[in-house]
Amino acid sequence: MNLILLGAPGAGKGTLAKDLAKIFGIPQISTGDMLREAVAAGTELGKKVKDIMDSGALVPDDLVNAIVREKLARPECHNGFIFDGYPRTKSQAESLENLLKEDGKKIDAVILLEVPKEIVVKRLTNRRICPHCGRIYNLITMPPSKEGICDGCSSKLITRDDDKEEVVTRRYEVYLERTAPLIEFYKQREILFTITVQNGDEDVTQMVLNVLKRVRK
Ligand SMILES: [Zn+2]
Repeated sequence: MNLILLGAPGAGKGTLAKDLAKIFGIPQISTGDMLREAVAAGTELGKKVKDIMDSGALVPDDLVNAIVREKLARPECHNGFIFDGYPRTKSQAESLENLLKEDGKKIDAVILLEVPKEIVVKRLTNRRICPHCGRIYNLITMPPSKEGICDGCSSKLITRDDDKEEVVTRRYEVYLERTAPLIEFYKQREILFTITVQNGDEDVTQMVLNVLKRVRK
């Protein structure tokens, strides 16, 4: 099963990807992880990526695509994969399609997690992290047992700058704008499945599994 997950930051892609990876026994691939892996491996490609990331610039499409190519050639991806956070642009989507075609493969389904802005904002602005051990809390769904204090190491919890309301709202809008062409691209290929989250309490993984029953592998 070759899958792509689309959704705003805070939509729950990460959790869903983990669940599906476990159920189908295929790896979850996020671009961030891939880039960090390439840098750590110290390959020719990794060195290029490191220079660009160190300069603070966005890693260009052709480099990302080259890393994806390298990744997909590995044995762990032969039975399928779940992309989370890639492709981000239509050009990346086209390149991925061509890459897979060379191997006689294709994307089986693209899952779009549609979550209302209010829910995403609520989720992210209620997120607190421990700067010391990295544990993540949510004041609504997973609060620490003592207010503002990490259960694991007793450090004072903080809100990441990325999780402040105005930043979250802006990221959501940027996401909508950037993803619209991708959604259109996969709609035309008739492999886009939209999962609509209404209150945020739904069992999204189960909803996705139901949808995937209709997908031919
Ligand atoms: Zn801690």
